[in-house]
Amino acid sequence: KEPKFEPKAGVPIDFTKIEINKLPTVIIMGRPNVGKSALFNRLIRRREALVYNTPTDHVTRDIREGVAKLGDLRFRVLDSAGLEAEASSGSVLSRTAGMTRNVLGRSQLVLFLIDGREGLQDMDLDVGRWLRKNAPGIKTLVVINKAEKLDAFSGSLAASVGEAYSLGFGDPVALSAETGFGMSELHEALKPLLEDYMLQVLTDDNIEENSSKEDEQLNDEDAKLPLQLAIVGRPNVGKSTLLNAILQEDRVLVGPEAGLTRDSIRVKFEYEGRTVYLVDTAGWLERTNQEKGPAKLSIVQSRKNLMRAHVVALVLDAEEIGKARRSLKHAEVVIARQAVEEGRGLVVIVNKMDLLRGRENKKTYESVINAVPEEIQTVIPQVTGIPVVFVSALEGKGRIAAMRQIVDTYEKWCSRLSTARLNRWLRKVVSRHSWKDQAAQPKIKYFTQVKARPPTFVAFVSGKNRLSDTDIRFLTKSLKEDFDLGGIPVRILQRCLL
Ligand code: GDP
Ligand code: GDP
Repeated sequence: KEPKFEPKAGVPIDFTKIEINKLPTVIIMGRPNVGKSALFNRLIRRREALVYNTPTDHVTRDIREGVAKLGDLRFRVLDSAGLEAEASSGSVLSRTAGMTRNVLGRSQLVLFLIDGREGLQDMDLDVGRWLRKNAPGIKTLVVINKAEKLDAFSGSLAASVGEAYSLGFGDPVALSAETGFGMSELHEALKPLLEDYMLQVLTDDNIEENSSKEDEQLNDEDAKLPLQLAIVGRPNVGKSTLLNAILQEDRVLVGPEAGLTRDSIRVKFEYEGRTVYLVDTAGWLERTNQEKGPAKLSIVQSRKNLMRAHVVALVLDAEEIGKARRSLKHAEVVIARQAVEEGRGLVVIVNKMDLLRGRENKKTYESVINAVPEEIQTVIPQVTGIPVVFVSALEGKGRIAAMRQIVDTYEKWCSRLSTARLNRWLRKVVSRHSWKDQAAQPKIKYFTQVKARPPTFVAFVSGKNRLSDTDIRFLTKSLKEDFDLGGIPVRILQRCLL
């Protein structure tokens, strides 16, 4: 019989401490012109919105995603406005329904916007019906927007609220995305829902889901999704040259396609039957050959792009490494660490190896080959086995190896291990570990993977003893070795059984 896990009651949730990719996702939906974008903009304020295309069938639309800040709450917010831009009259969602269902599947909560000034329209009812059919398990909160002038005394507010109730999604919230009126009500309505979600996220639901499915099957499914690749590095290390080398002859370059905003230019290509999106072009294409200020800028740019990349390829310049005593410049260390901290797969590509050819360079050549992996290990001790590939983009040498490492890293990043397998492994590994204090050895009742991309595991511990940082490091290291997850930012979390 599987143990029952319950969240620790009364533990306040500090949303500011939760990693972005674990935050709940809220999607703003509604017919055109109700103010979805306005609300989205207010929620993310001046923070960066990520614009990405979600191609399905024949349409490519933009969805904006950002991190919302609302009082003490943080959540990911999706603006579905771009999805309807091309929809013809009639059903708003007709052409893009599949894609909307897709993004809906990634969301935990829907903010269903209606326009308080215009009152309920047929199209709102359409959206409501569509949501009931396609998002039955997703909590929907009706938001009456443009309520800044609705008068509680003249009854216009009451009328809107009445209409909103008639949609059948429970208590609505009235606010104004434009003036900010009512945002505290929205906060109040969202807080218990989002806290609930965070408490649930790593507990029994996930476990049941995971143990009931066979991991190998899932592996394939996940790894078939398009790979989002960011090629990052300082100006002039050869990123453009490398990309061109990778895109040679047989690869189809579909793009670059301009997105909604200037920095969402993306390149899409097919590599061995797999769709790859290059998510980081604007950041460096525009700024090539500028060394000073812009090099700094590109770190900031990179951080934003890292969040949408699955795999980050960090390009280094072999000639510079040969001359310097350290392989990685400060900016490069920052980017590499960020990639790992954001849970991205990292591949290091040392370019311009052709410049170190010849007898006179033999020593330098060898020292570069040895120094780079060592130094990567030193600056990112938490992830062992980060792949390092040595290439000459100019001559097209090593491009296949580089792509292979990237794809390989992606596949590992997507991998899922079944709970049964993990627990068999756990029994063995526990006996291998030299526990600091045998008597106070924590009891791991259960070990499971709660998510992939990147692989994240939870150890459920009972009794009063907890896993120390050393214990967790040991488990992480063993897990990587035993399941061939080197170079992947694997996470193990600890949960206490009540
Ligand atoms: P979307 O199509 O749902 O994304 O709607 P937009 O965000 O583009 O907003 C449509 C129109 O409504 C724009 O002209 C906005 O300025 C306006 N609007 C949005 N929110 C409010 C609001 O709270 N009050 C008022 N009066 N107008 C708003
Ligand atoms: P980016 O700014 O990182 O995109 O760098 P580029 O691709 O524009 O390359 C900068 C310079 O380095 C150009 O003059 C390239 O020809 C040169 N370069 C790029 N890759 C190599 C390489 O593998 N070997 C050599 N010798 N030069 C290279």
